[in-house]
Amino acid sequence: MAEELDPFKIAQEQLDEAASIMKLDKEAHAILREPKRVLVMSIPVRMGNGHTQVFTGFRVRYNDARGPAKGGIRFHPQESLSTVKALAAWMTWKCSLADIPFGGGKGGVICDTKKMSDKEVEALSRAYVRALGTDMGPEVDVPAPDVYTNPQIMAWMLDEYMNIARKSEFGAITGKPVEVWGSAGRMDSTARGGMYVMREAAKMLKINPRRATIAVQGFGNAGRYAYTLSREIMGSKVVAISDSEGGVYDPDGLDLAKLDEAKKRTGTVQGYKSKKAKKISNEELLELKVDILIPAAIENQVRADNADRINCKLLLELANGPVTPEATKILFEKKILDLPDFLVNSGGVIGSYYEWVQNITGDYWDTDLFYAKLDKKITKSFNATIAMQKEYAAKGEKINPRMAAYIIAVERVAKAMKARGWY
Ligand code: NAD
Repeated sequence: MAEELDPFKIAQEQLDEAASIMKLDKEAHAILREPKRVLVMSIPVRMGNGHTQVFTGFRVRYNDARGPAKGGIRFHPQESLSTVKALAAWMTWKCSLADIPFGGGKGGVICDTKKMSDKEVEALSRAYVRALGTDMGPEVDVPAPDVYTNPQIMAWMLDEYMNIARKSEFGAITGKPVEVWGSAGRMDSTARGGMYVMREAAKMLKINPRRATIAVQGFGNAGRYAYTLSREIMGSKVVAISDSEGGVYDPDGLDLAKLDEAKKRTGTVQGYKSKKAKKISNEELLELKVDILIPAAIENQVRADNADRINCKLLLELANGPVTPEATKILFEKKILDLPDFLVNSGGVIGSYYEWVQNITGDYWDTDLFYAKLDKKITKSFNATIAMQKEYAAKGEKINPRMAAYIIAVERVAKAMKARGWY
């Protein structure tokens, strides 16, 4: 039977599994299975040709027991409510595992920005914020960039928000350009956090990062910085990288300037040229024999039908939801260390938290302080996850790292809900 790939069902099944292992209170479980609040918005935008186009946008506030909702906004043609709900649930666990004072949220708009002018993207961004109105804000729900949204879009959104709120609240959105009090260091914090996790995991697995071969799926914010930082922090060699068109493989390692040049010239990294470079599909990239595989693009990339062919020692889920539940089990049996998204990519939201803290206090940090704090925080989450896995192993129960991380995160949210009297 084909594997069920509805993202929200996946998120619920993962929670159900964790709840059963940790013997979660039934009432807490029932609350956590559904989002607290779902907004579906019909957003009219006057396009460049003078006609009005109506876009569908979403914002989900999954749980705010531990603080304001926090989560990105995606602009994607295949966006769906199920995806946004799943991502909002995962944000709840991510903020909790990272132990930062936020709940989980997420937003998205069904649109194809590749077919829109900058002016149209700006108009859509502003219209999305107008549709949200007071359902966002530094103490309510704090958006950030995600797939096909960026700091410029956040600046437009913030400007629109401050016009509505009639006050200067730079903490209403994170992932902003530094000119409007974005944080130094936030730009690459998702990938940087992932690379700190990679350093710790490589140490544990006794992989020498300098000799390690790495394949990265995705060449956006997460994927491109994973490429540059794996080299910068650990001196590792990235042998394959891809975008939505496909990938490129060079056993000698890929060169950033050439990748950027190929992307600029042909619109895809597949235009990369070198003596040994060859074009590969996204499927082939995932199945390459490498030490470390980093899916950093979209969800459901490693599934029951290809998990058996995954050929790495360490899989770092830098994207959200790139490995399905059945595939997680197969990888665990294959003894591949598959580290879950809400641990690996939590550097993004930890960076957002630091940006928010700086906006609220007015005390701005340099990148050294930002990186040091990020390193300490995410390393703590990694260690806690491995410790939880060992705690269960000592009781004779083998759980994968995703479940170990879930148990830590769910327990914290359940305790906050209990303290607030939600159950
Ligand atoms: P991005 O828009 O900057 O880049 C997305 C990349 O994925 C692009 O290179 C695109 O070509 C590629 N892509 C799109 N469809 C694809 C497909 N079908 N097959 C292969 N590649 C495809 O987005 P991003 O910010 O890098 O986000 C990537 C992933 O990381 C997402 O899952 C996102 O939720 C997650 N993430 C990002 C951040 C962040 O701070 N940017 C934080 C946490 C998680």
